[in-house]
Amino acid sequence: MKTIGIIGGMSWESTVTYYETINEEIIRKLGGFHSAKILMYSVDFAELEENMEKGYWQGNAVILTDAATRLEKAGADFIIIATNTMHKLVPDIEKEISIPIIHIADATADAIKQKGIKKVGLLGTRFTMTQDFIKERLSSAGLEVMVPNERDMEIVDNVIFNELCLGKVLDSSRNEYKRIIDEMKEKGAEGVILGCTEIGMLIKDEDSSLPTFDTTILHATAAALEALK
Ligand code: GLU
Repeated sequence: MKTIGIIGGMSWESTVTYYETINEEIIRKLGGFHSAKILMYSVDFAELEENMEKGYWQGNAVILTDAATRLEKAGADFIIIATNTMHKLVPDIEKEISIPIIHIADATADAIKQKGIKKVGLLGTRFTMTQDFIKERLSSAGLEVMVPNERDMEIVDNVIFNELCLGKVLDSSRNEYKRIIDEMKEKGAEGVILGCTEIGMLIKDEDSSLPTFDTTILHATAAALEALK
């Protein structure tokens, strides 16, 4: 079994789901007493959040590259970054390590395509919804990606940073997300990507009028399967 290197802590709540999901998948495949071989570097999210607020992405590239380098030195065979947003920095990190990074958008695109879906809505941080680092990767996999309007993007982003990343799960925010998903459905989306690793705390499949693609679960499962290759 290969050793998975996780860069976690962004936020720590969603990293818990990664740890559980990876181990559950290993059990599903191997059974018995098996569990995943994992090395984790869990960052202090406050430092990264402050850098994002300032638009100081280079600071985050330094923190994450340092984490990835440590994981490689410690013996990880490959790396997963347990957040969508920090995938913006994958090109910077890849330059400094010689082990692969399993990209969250690739794991997500594979699952969507398996369901025969072409047009998907994307919910995530404002960075994920407005910039190209996830969207372009999904488009080059052949998917058509739709994001909410400006006002709703602000609602989605506020719920992530002011509630979910602080461990708060509110019914009122769930209702807002449900409404936004309904509107994307009306505009022709056939599925919705929970493109922030905390959204699964708020929205379950039964809350959504569209099939959900939870990037946390899909990415963690892809990591477990890669470990067994
Ligand atoms: N976990 C979130 C994501 O998947 C947001 C936190 C972050 O900015 O890393 O994008």
